[in-house]
Amino acid sequence: MPLPARAQVVVVGAGLAGLSAAVRLRAAGVDVHVAEAARHTGGRLATERIDGFVVDRGFQVLNTGYPRAADLDLAALDLGWFWPGAVVRVDGRASRVVDPRRRPAAALDTLYAPLGSPLRKAAIVAYSARAGYTPVPRLLREPETTAEERLRRAGVGDTALERFFRPFLAGVLLEDRLETSSRYLDLLWRSFARGAIGLPARGMQSVGEQLADRVGAERLHLGVRVTAVGGDAVTTDAGRTRADAVVVATDPATAAALVPGVTASAPRRVTTHLHVLPASPSGEPLLVLGTPSGQLVNSVVLTDAQPAYSPDGRALVASSSLAPTREADVRAEIAALHGIGTGDLAHLTSVTVPQAQPAAVPPLHLRQPVDLGGGLYVAGDHRDTPSIQGAMASGARAARAVLRGLQTRQRGAA
Ligand SMILES: Cc1cc2nc3c(=O)[nH]c(=O)nc-3n(C[C@H](O)[C@H](O)[C@H](O)COP(=O)(O)OP(=O)(O)OC[C@H]3O[C@@H](n4cnc5c(N)ncnc54)[C@H](O)[C@@H]3O)c2cc1C
Repeated sequence: MPLPARAQVVVVGAGLAGLSAAVRLRAAGVDVHVAEAARHTGGRLATERIDGFVVDRGFQVLNTGYPRAADLDLAALDLGWFWPGAVVRVDGRASRVVDPRRRPAAALDTLYAPLGSPLRKAAIVAYSARAGYTPVPRLLREPETTAEERLRRAGVGDTALERFFRPFLAGVLLEDRLETSSRYLDLLWRSFARGAIGLPARGMQSVGEQLADRVGAERLHLGVRVTAVGGDAVTTDAGRTRADAVVVATDPATAAALVPGVTASAPRRVTTHLHVLPASPSGEPLLVLGTPSGQLVNSVVLTDAQPAYSPDGRALVASSSLAPTREADVRAEIAALHGIGTGDLAHLTSVTVPQAQPAAVPPLHLRQPVDLGGGLYVAGDHRDTPSIQGAMASGARAARAVLRGLQTRQRGAA
């Protein structure tokens, strides 16, 4: 459906940032329309069905510790849960490292996990408590450094850094040098300490679809690519739409191309291989971390957390690497991480996402300006943090700024 010739506000992009902005504007009674180049809503949270399996575009999860998770109807997403932690493999032996507050039964495993001395483990607990429960303004007042330096200064030690933090964080930050800003690490670790990690029954795309439902189908224009923007109009292949305000909520690279002055940081990429197994090897919904000698950062039996990802009880495994890998080159590694034979793994599909998320290296400017003046606004994970939280928070900020702008305009007209 093409955009109307005139709208009060046009949002460009129906990812979580654009949808979060549109939901708020709609709730305030604004005549808002969303132009989306793709045929689905949700942006980078994309899901397809392959042979009956629910397949997300890359391994992604929803962290309920994100402040903006409060904007979602979590019950309606029908989430299946991971345990908070991971399996660490050392010399072929698997050890569980699990937050003992959530799974007291795994406390002994965690205590004896090969992550260094009891003093080092106490430092991990202390860092988690500080990140989790220090008020955010105080957390953000700490001098900024890299994620690695923050962990070293926290005293977690080399062993835990290499065996646990580096592969665990590489799977989230999509970089393994841990050069990401310590500010983002602190905020991220806070959400892990406070929330739970889930997968929606209908896949990650359903997070965006839930917001899209609140905007209303008649205001969502799928398959509409915007080619130029100004504060008073957008141009698409089908023509021009005039507006009082325009919110550019695309991916960072497109935002940089459409809007002068917006810059895109180097994107992080990830390759994910999906395999089917006759049954889950452990039945425990825990991420298995890659080892220093391997190419994978992690591998996980998705169906242990969310059984609805499988049509028939078989297990679905997602295994990710930062550099692009070929399935044949990592198959043995996947089998070794789960303690199974390679013959059990049936390859379903593989995907490389070249622009999965923007880098967040120091100096990290949290809450970059969203109001560019003249009726032009910008939102997206590149404005806050490279995450679901960052995208939704930037959309909320952009909506507030648009509402202020519209009020000023109305007062001026009066
Ligand atoms: C593989 C992968 C794993 C991830 N894992 C996690 C995770 O576990 N947890 C987490 O918090 N985050 C994760 N992320 C990051 C998170 O998905 C993103 O930060 C977030 O979804 C970005 O939302 P956005 O709205 O800013 O941008 P996008 O989702 O990119 O939305 C932008 C939208 O704009 C549209 N668009 C682009 N150009 C145009 C145009 N010219 N005209 C009209 N429309 C246009 C696009 O089609 C898209 O729908 C992951 C990302 C990937 C790819």
